[in-house]
Amino acid sequence: MLSGKRALKGPAKLAVPLTTFLATLALLLGIPAAGAVAADGVEGETFVIGTDTTFAPFEFRQDGELVGIDMDLLNAIAEEEGFNVEIQSLGFDAALQSLQSNQVDGVIAGMSITDERRQVFDFSDPYFESGIQMAVAENNDDVAGYEDLRGKRVAVKTGTEGQTFAESIKDQYGFEVVAFAQSAQMYDDVKAGGSVAVFDDYPVLAYGVASGNGLKTVTEKEAGSSYGFAVNKGASPELLTAFNDGLADLKASGEYDEILDTYLESGAKDSSFWSLITDNGPAFAKGMGLTLLATALSLLFALVLGVFFGFLKVGSSKILRGIATVYVSIFRGTPVLVQAFFFYFGLPQLIGQPVDVLTAGVLTLSLNAGAYMTEIVRGGIQSVDPGQMEAARSLGLGYGKTMQKVIIPQAIKIMTPSFINQFVITLKDTSLLAVIGFAELTYQGQQIYAVNFRTAEVLLIVAALYFIVITLLTKLADVLDKRFNK
Ligand code: GLN
Repeated sequence: MLSGKRALKGPAKLAVPLTTFLATLALLLGIPAAGAVAADGVEGETFVIGTDTTFAPFEFRQDGELVGIDMDLLNAIAEEEGFNVEIQSLGFDAALQSLQSNQVDGVIAGMSITDERRQVFDFSDPYFESGIQMAVAENNDDVAGYEDLRGKRVAVKTGTEGQTFAESIKDQYGFEVVAFAQSAQMYDDVKAGGSVAVFDDYPVLAYGVASGNGLKTVTEKEAGSSYGFAVNKGASPELLTAFNDGLADLKASGEYDEILDTYLESGAKDSSFWSLITDNGPAFAKGMGLTLLATALSLLFALVLGVFFGFLKVGSSKILRGIATVYVSIFRGTPVLVQAFFFYFGLPQLIGQPVDVLTAGVLTLSLNAGAYMTEIVRGGIQSVDPGQMEAARSLGLGYGKTMQKVIIPQAIKIMTPSFINQFVITLKDTSLLAVIGFAELTYQGQQIYAVNFRTAEVLLIVAALYFIVITLLTKLADVLDKRFNK
């Protein structure tokens, strides 16, 4: 169902083999990539479905697994109707963006069926009735209704019905709205006092409050819309039909009620700091694995780029030097985050084909680190005393041989500390890829505290893991440096 018609020439040529290569790698590692389906029927087909990162009880992580009402319903329907799903847990706004840019085939994310969204998406039959409610910090006794919000700040999640509702009454009640990408961030902002209240869907607030998220609800819920499963307008009627059929069956068999009961009755459980680590061990390990994978691949490509453009920069051709300069300026002169968004959300529109998250992430970090590597290589070569070149040449050595035997070995020695530095920076930059849904370490941390609300402890664990790994790897690099760069 993913359209690949608007292929452009330049970027497509370059991006496709890399995409294919990394998609294969991703497949081996079990990272979902967008798949295509036949025109008729859905049996045996695989659909890539985007969802929110955390919207408990509809989708959230439990022991590293994505669970929740949406997940169970979708899986049960897929089984009933004989199709497969690959879930991409992206965040609410990101999931809708991904659907629009055909990165995913559908979205299930406690997504309200609204008239505005109907303009661009087709929805399934409704499967849950929701509505917006307001919550404040547990210990806040000053804010009990909208009229108490005057001059204050209210937290919402980007692109949600909660945001639309808040915006619609903010002038009337004189408050300011601040939007966050993830549920946990908006709750934390309320607990930290940045915002006094949050507007969110009532079942989600109820679940959070029952799980001890430190908030309490203070208003009645507003009449709200129902949740539906969404596909692009006109894109997948057969998937919608299958979803509706499966849903009807689940309702008839009582399985629908069972799924709802499972999640609506229980909140998250309490646990010690130690069990926070052990319970989430697999998630942290997976996150660290992907962090290291993205770092290794990116540095490898960055090194190639850096050597290539670095040599162009010290070469004699003005044009080639110019090309290298433009490359460095672009990737050093724009934020990594913007680059990541571009390669994940923008590039697919240019090449008319989805780019999986590992490819987009590695492209971003390789090109970014490559720009810095270029400067390291240039600086390293240029810092070798020009007298060395003159001396070697006057002894009768050619330019190439002089470079190879005299200049480069000295340059490498000079460059090594900067390379190690860049390696540490790139490793840390992988954390930025959490925003495009790459399941590296920071992302795993977000997933965990979004459910148990223990933000400080989880972030400390995540930071400690980065610190340990970076310390060990830099030590190793130092040892190697001493061994080989004597
Ligand atoms: N139901 C809300 C909406 O569709 C929020 C969904 C969510 O945050 N996952 O806008």
